[in-house]
Amino acid sequence: MMNKDQISEETDQLIRSYNLELIEPPCLPGADKWSAKAHLQDNISEVLPYLNAELKGANYIHNSNVLIWEAKGRKYAFRPHEIAAAPVEDREEGHKLINDLVDVVNKIWKQRHEIRPNFEQRKLPTVMDIYKHLPKTNCKECGYLTCMAYAADLRKGKTKPLQCPNLPEENKNNLSHLFDKSIW
Ligand code: SF4
Repeated sequence: MMNKDQISEETDQLIRSYNLELIEPPCLPGADKWSAKAHLQDNISEVLPYLNAELKGANYIHNSNVLIWEAKGRKYAFRPHEIAAAPVEDREEGHKLINDLVDVVNKIWKQRHEIRPNFEQRKLPTVMDIYKHLPKTNCKECGYLTCMAYAADLRKGKTKPLQCPNLPEENKNNLSHLFDKSIW
């Protein structure tokens, strides 16, 4: 289903209007989450390095002209003529989320003269890089059978960074340097 959203007329607005698409969950057992997309008239390629500089945890892939951002259990993708978000609970939440993302893009675009654009792709640490800072006792208190399994899911963003209750302060600091600090 498509709705057209018109943004208020304002100078220096990068996204001026968009069509909202809400994608229903597939007819599969356990699949009950929606996703939402904004189809943009305007090309937002130029703002992507600025979003990369400002959105903590963002990953800009310059050659593919896409920025992936993961925050608060959701994934977002920004492409030249599209913003996508998933998962969303329902139409209402999808609509609100896309509106908020459009506001973020417009706000960062307006502030671009004060931001140093970042064209670099974020490098994730390896599983071993993470593992060597864990206690390696396989105590299972994090819900994983082994520290290695926890490290693997931590790298993928599938578990929370401080799910291990046995991390000494120094190891927390070392781990935080491997990742974007904002996720800690
Ligand atoms: S709680 Fe920490 S020490 Fe225990 S298995 Fe998980 S990562 Fe390893």
